Amino acid sequence: MTEDDVLDTLQRYASEHFPRTCGCGRRYPTLRAYIESTVPTGSATSYDAELGDWDTTRPIGAIVLSNCRCGSTLALSTEHVPLDQQLALLRWFRAESEARGVTVTALLESLRARVRQRVLAEPPAG
Ligand SMILES: [Zn+2]
Repeated sequence: MTEDDVLDTLQRYASEHFPRTCGCGRRYPTLRAYIESTVPTGSATSYDAELGDWDTTRPIGAIVLSNCRCGSTLALSTEHVPLDQQLALLRWFRAESEARGVTVTALLESLRARVRQRVLAEPPAG
């Protein structure tokens, strides 16, 4: 897996959370609308990495949080990523964080920033 493969996978499956509606009634038709209108909060988290459960066959996955303008916290996760790809991501997170000498959280934060840049750089749909 290259970093571009990882970004493609994260972006594709993050997009499957949309359309969605916050509890306040605000609608997010697309990942792009969500990125444009919410404020990232907290730290990106890989639960499996945090547990040191690198050899799991049943990964819990990773999440990133953002705040809606109403103040509610909304999550994007890897729940839609097929199992084989979740396991490949987890292996990549481990290898890449070691190669870069950074924590998995720092690695995930950099991936999050790159996915946001990619989505916002795309021409708006429709
Ligand atoms: Zn809201």
